Amino acid sequence: MGNSVKKGKVVIANENQVKSLRLYKAAIGDQDMRKPEIRSYKIDEKEEQEFGNNKEKSFLETKIQQYICSSEVVIFSKTTCENCSKVKDHFDEMDISYFVVELDQIKNGQSLEKELYKYTMETALPNVFVKEKLIGDYTDVIQLSKDGLFQKLLESKNDKPKEAGYEYDLIVIGGGSGGLAASKEAAQYGKKVLVLDYVPPSPLGTTWGLGGTCVNVGCIPKKLMHQAALLRQALKDSRTYGWQFDDVKHSWDIMTESIQNYIGSLNWNYRVSLMENKVKYENGYGEFVEPHKIKSTNSRGKVKFFTAEKFLIATGERPRYLGIPGDKEYCITSDDLFSLPYCPGKTLVVGASYVALECAGFLAGLGLDVTVMVRSILLRGFDQQMAEKIGEHMDEHGVKFIKHFVPTKIEQIEAGSPGKLKVTSQSTAGAEITEEYNTVLLAIGRDACTRTIGLDIPGVKINEKTGKIPVNDEEQTNIPYIYAIGDVLEDKLELTPVAIQAGRLLARRLYGSSTLKCDYINVPTTVFTPLEYGACGLSEENAISKYGEDNIEVYHSYFWPLEWTVPARDNNKCYAKVICNIKDNERVVGFHLLAPNAGEITQGFAVAIKCGVNKEQLDNTIGIHPVCAEIFTTLSVTKRSGGNIMQAGC
Ligand code: FAD
Ligand code: NAP
Repeated sequence: MGNSVKKGKVVIANENQVKSLRLYKAAIGDQDMRKPEIRSYKIDEKEEQEFGNNKEKSFLETKIQQYICSSEVVIFSKTTCENCSKVKDHFDEMDISYFVVELDQIKNGQSLEKELYKYTMETALPNVFVKEKLIGDYTDVIQLSKDGLFQKLLESKNDKPKEAGYEYDLIVIGGGSGGLAASKEAAQYGKKVLVLDYVPPSPLGTTWGLGGTCVNVGCIPKKLMHQAALLRQALKDSRTYGWQFDDVKHSWDIMTESIQNYIGSLNWNYRVSLMENKVKYENGYGEFVEPHKIKSTNSRGKVKFFTAEKFLIATGERPRYLGIPGDKEYCITSDDLFSLPYCPGKTLVVGASYVALECAGFLAGLGLDVTVMVRSILLRGFDQQMAEKIGEHMDEHGVKFIKHFVPTKIEQIEAGSPGKLKVTSQSTAGAEITEEYNTVLLAIGRDACTRTIGLDIPGVKINEKTGKIPVNDEEQTNIPYIYAIGDVLEDKLELTPVAIQAGRLLARRLYGSSTLKCDYINVPTTVFTPLEYGACGLSEENAISKYGEDNIEVYHSYFWPLEWTVPARDNNKCYAKVICNIKDNERVVGFHLLAPNAGEITQGFAVAIKCGVNKEQLDNTIGIHPVCAEIFTTLSVTKRSGGNIMQAGC
């Protein structure tokens, strides 16, 4: 016969992506949608009398209803119809089961088709129903799949995993910024939550406590070391303000000890906070062993198993290595730097993004001899004018740059703390150089921790090349009960507040009544180089490619912080730029700032950008004098005009 049922998986979706109201209503389960009434299939005598001539109609109607209810996905189709074949192929590709009614293969098929038309008002086949709701034809199904909404429709509300006896409502793998935020939020809704956190030691053996990258080997120690470096500059400036002192020295040991003590207190606070929130914490490495079951292995090799209804992957990333002789034996990464038990001495930093430039910046700021080896450009993905200015400033403040070179071999010349390493490097044009350093810090990117956690067992898809996890805009993977947040996500920003926000909002959507999704647009960020760089929105390059050069206006200016005038340093190094969309009332689409405390300033302007601030509103805002941020209320020179933007004084 023409009916068949296939086996397959089901998956999820979201509100914003939905283009069609009908699809959306169907997705959120609007009962008024053309959901068929379910009547008795058996026609009794009374009904027969009542319907009289309508008997056949009633029978057909009932038959249709029965078909519609027979499976989660039902396709009314014809074997000769091209779109019907395509829709079936599409479901096959998605590995989704369906019940197909081939109207040209069954008795009463023609009459059923006519009756179906009254039901659906759709003239063309196929007619696809999901969970008894009319979805539409081939185009509608494709749209639905594209929007990720189809998966939501199929996310069975009838699944009752609790009844299947899972121990936890939610298991979070990874107790970093995102995982901790999500787990505490979920527990607020009375859910039973387990967090697994485990730090495999770096190749040099460094490990740390609860809290993830940001707290232990990221934002926190980085910003504190940046502060240590800024203090050296402040000490220099202070002489012109009358401070007198001799013999100022810096102690790496005291700095790292103070910072590590503070981090230790944060690790402890996280544990307490999990306890207070009744979140169970397990210091073990988690990996899937069954679709709903996790194995946790602790540092002594002790194994435990846990099951849950839902899972959240928040395992973050770890530094990448070059894959050249000597890299894992002799090089350090940011995982080792912040707790290094000795001053690194003359240091080569390999890489040219956030981590590389920030670390190079504070190491040089502490007085060390620092070289940055750049493969191509500085700060890929950022506004390149700003990136160049950062490079120039670092260069003027003693950081050396070797451009278009990559290391090919690291050899130890002398063991010690630090020892001495010989680095052989090759230029992209072919030339080879060698140089000796005490320390080589690799900052060439980070790899998502997704390849050794058994994701193939539940069938979670990862990008095979990058290891990143693709999710829909509700942070849901291709497997409906498994979610992912933070640095493991594909095409999302790798920033602590982003991971936290995504985690919190996810828990509120899963367990509360919220529908709010994480907004990944216009996320502000700051690169903590010696001269901080704050940004929000589009780079100038991206604004040009999005709106066209003629449709954007760039307002810019150099400025001189008042505090820097007395020590007479760095005039015309601080720089402000806003990029406006001319066709949208000069709405600000890009904000860029090179200044001391750029992070503090950028945070406030990010709020304005979120509210849709335009150039006129910036101009109508009265500045605070004398502060750096007031420059944004007085920007008048456009880049197009080529006008003078140099500042002589305040
Ligand atoms: P993480 O915080 O990395 O947490 C993941 C946790 O999961 C880790 O503890 C990991 O050990 C654990 N884990 C991994 N696999 C398993 C497993 N199988 N079982 C159990 N546990 C597991 N962001 C900013 O916003 N501002 C900054 O200034 C900033 N500076 C940074 C500086 C540096 C040097 C670096 C490296 C990053 C910086 N970041 C900064 C980025 C920020 O740290 C990350 O975006 C953030 O920590 C991501 O959070 P997460 O929850 O995704 O992952
Ligand atoms: P990244 O942004 O991925 O940059 C990697 C850098 O290493 C690039 O400059 C790249 O050069 C270079 N590189 C890659 N492979 C190389 C090789 N084989 N040899 C030489 N150079 C190589 O990585 P990241 O700096 O580690 O930062 C990771 C993420 O952490 C960032 O995306 C950011 O979101 C987050 N973070 C945030 C902050 C902050 O908020 N202040 C600070 C630090 C980190 P090419 O350009 O040539 O590819």
